[in-house]
Amino acid sequence: MKRKVGIITLGCPKNLVDSEIMAGILEDAGFEVTTILRSAETIIINTCAFIGDAKEEAIMSILEAARYKTEGSLKILMVAGCLAERYKEEIFKEIPEVDVVVGTGSIGQIPEILSKRLDSNDLRREICTQTPNSVDYLESTRNVADNKPYSYLKIAEGCDNRCTYCIIPSLRGGYRSRTIENITREARILVKKGKKEIILVAQDVTRYGTDIYGEKSLVSLIRELGKTEGIERIRLLYCYPELIDDNLITEMKNNIKLVKYMDIPIQHISDRILKAMGRRGNKEYINNLLIKIRREIPEVVLRTSLITGFPGETEEDFKELYEFVKECRFEHLGVFAYSKEEDTPAYKMKGHVPQKIKEARRNKLMALQKDNVKKHNSTRIGRIYDTIVDGVAEDGIFYVGRTYAETPDIDPIVYFTSPEPLEIGMIVPVKILCPDGYDLVGEAQGIGRNGE
Ligand code: SF4
Repeated sequence: MKRKVGIITLGCPKNLVDSEIMAGILEDAGFEVTTILRSAETIIINTCAFIGDAKEEAIMSILEAARYKTEGSLKILMVAGCLAERYKEEIFKEIPEVDVVVGTGSIGQIPEILSKRLDSNDLRREICTQTPNSVDYLESTRNVADNKPYSYLKIAEGCDNRCTYCIIPSLRGGYRSRTIENITREARILVKKGKKEIILVAQDVTRYGTDIYGEKSLVSLIRELGKTEGIERIRLLYCYPELIDDNLITEMKNNIKLVKYMDIPIQHISDRILKAMGRRGNKEYINNLLIKIRREIPEVVLRTSLITGFPGETEEDFKELYEFVKECRFEHLGVFAYSKEEDTPAYKMKGHVPQKIKEARRNKLMALQKDNVKKHNSTRIGRIYDTIVDGVAEDGIFYVGRTYAETPDIDPIVYFTSPEPLEIGMIVPVKILCPDGYDLVGEAQGIGRNGE
């Protein structure tokens, strides 16, 4: 009987990739990865600890999974990921149900840790961490079990940007790129598994290659990936504003496989707050960058994320941010109320903003963004877009898909009907008929490039 392991993934797409690697190396080691948690001897919770809400969610998931010790077959409850790295001792002390805490640098050791424990029936509790200083584990087998036509591809680990509100560099270590060979090899495997859209992720994709090639190499990577037959779309997430250069903008303009979509977390626009956040690039630089991108690539779709209520943020600073969002009209926007995180420089800063004000400012920006989305959507009515089929809606009538303007899991989607049956992964022309809240509704126009 194979030993069964259940994996619960929290947090960002980078964590999802880590979980898929955990599943891959466990299967290579003879374990069976199951979604039926009740039958699992081991449950791994791959956690996030970026902000307060994420920590709460992680603790809730741990306590929920612990129930299977009495209601299921659970022997080993393992906590991995950022919460494990950040609070290894505290988890150990405060959550006795947890048997093993595995840091972000020890993912590769998970099969060995489990086999040793289960073989010897040695169930003493342990913490397994080592400094996260390599990307070797990313070259391991990855279990991409879903039938989605897209997959995230992690091109680097860690971060050197050191924003003052962020705990990630201390949890994931310094920036470490994978080689172009290793990344393209993985992309070929993903294509064989039916993936048409490859979404490049890292804490900062624009810094790619500076550590191993001595220069920014994202464009070289994109071109190499573009040579892989079967890849229809390459998408970029997490571009650091100050590292976006003409080379990348020109590549996005001319490379038909690189979707005209840029996710650029900007965080704020007031020079005073940007400085306090430790962000490089000031208001003038950011505004000029956005103007240039929109001028060079008129159909570009821009996503950003902003933080409200950073220590010292005045009503004036917020007004500046509000006007910025009004003017720039991002197609997609995420806004977070600043989360006070110990062990970050911002934690010790003066002028912390009351929670109510942080949230009120976030809500104001999201209300403004709702208006921006309405205006964007109204310009898309009647237009025809190549749309990838991601699946079928619960009602069984509509297909769900995405044009180049939507990223999975974080952006709205397109619901559409089709005169012909379609398969997941097909790219078909869809005419947008109307908005449905943030989402869009459309109709497939005959069969697309992939159709017969
Ligand atoms: S770029 Fe800044 S916010 Fe993003 S992971 Fe790095 S330090 Fe954190």
